[in-house]
Amino acid sequence: MKKGVDKGWSEQLRARWPGEIEWDSPMARWCTLQVGGPARAIAMPASREELQSLIAVLARLGVCWRVIGRGSNLLVADAGYDGVIVMLGRKFATIAQRAGEKPGEFLVRVEAGCSLMKLVNWCTGQGLQGLEFAAGIPGSVGGAVVMNAGAWGKEMGEPLSSVTFLAQSGECVEREKSGLCLSYRHLETEGMLVAAAEFLLLAGDRQEIEARCARLMGDRKGKQPQGLANAGSFFKNPAGLPAAGKLIQDAGLKGVRVGGAEVSEVHANFLVNTGSATAQDFLGLMQLVQEKVAARFGVWLEPEVHIL
Ligand SMILES: Cc1cc2nc3c(=O)[nH]c(=O)nc-3n(C[C@H](O)[C@H](O)[C@H](O)COP(=O)(O)OP(=O)(O)OC[C@H]3O[C@@H](n4cnc5c(N)ncnc54)[C@H](O)[C@@H]3O)c2cc1C
Repeated sequence: MKKGVDKGWSEQLRARWPGEIEWDSPMARWCTLQVGGPARAIAMPASREELQSLIAVLARLGVCWRVIGRGSNLLVADAGYDGVIVMLGRKFATIAQRAGEKPGEFLVRVEAGCSLMKLVNWCTGQGLQGLEFAAGIPGSVGGAVVMNAGAWGKEMGEPLSSVTFLAQSGECVEREKSGLCLSYRHLETEGMLVAAAEFLLLAGDRQEIEARCARLMGDRKGKQPQGLANAGSFFKNPAGLPAAGKLIQDAGLKGVRVGGAEVSEVHANFLVNTGSATAQDFLGLMQLVQEKVAARFGVWLEPEVHIL
């Protein structure tokens, strides 16, 4: 929350915005790491108009806010978030397709709240290829675009054609891919919210696309910890060096714990919640891993997980 903000903003928000709000909701419920204290408010707009009016009201009240998707790349502090978490859920999940410029090309436009897996399955059903690499990545399309999520050497930025942003002013800004600043696990949003994205995909054989998705999902199962809460790869892979998981493993850190947070025995770049972890445990383990890897290999691992 910005300095000097009236502590009574929650009443004012309630009075000025009619949409659905959950007050003092523990973020552990909304994040795949299953840790994190309460957000003062979680706002769930039901339409583009409600979202735009929410952003405008929050700006007028001077309240901090943050939009999240499915919380699969988030570590929220035990103290929680003293502001408004904006959630784009199923009400922002439409998918539509139109023909591209060349034969066999299709543009698929999807709203940010749609789950990435639903989009992958939808494209498979339409016989459209180009997003198979994303099969098995949890989270929303908005989160995947903001994270420039990737796997198997591919990332969201590749099939991406354009992004529709919602600026703090409430104005919609459409940017073609050439105008986007995309890098490894990052899209520069300039503080704007991702409202929708369009992907350029190619017509393909439905059964082959399905088989590719199934194979990649199977490969994931064998390589990632199952049954323990996590946020996928915790650290970014450092440029020009072995993958973060290999560095952590070679530093002898598999199985190391801080409280209830543990470096996975299955994949060392996964920090898992063994059941009773707090956000502080994850922050402690993160720092321990960074220090040990730095001491051994001279590189400070940067978290891929966003810390709130
Ligand atoms: C089991 C598991 C496996 C995973 N595998 C992979 C993988 O293979 N590759 C990979 O890249 N990631 C992977 N992840 C991490 C994660 O799933 C991705 O980063 C995912 O794209 C995050 O989407 P989300 O909706 O959960 O985003 P969140 O975690 O909710 O948010 C992530 C960030 O994006 C911001 N954000 C979210 N939505 C919007 C929006 N609409 N507008 C503006 N900002 C927004 C949030 O504020 C936050 O800063 C994995 C995670 C898990 C748990």
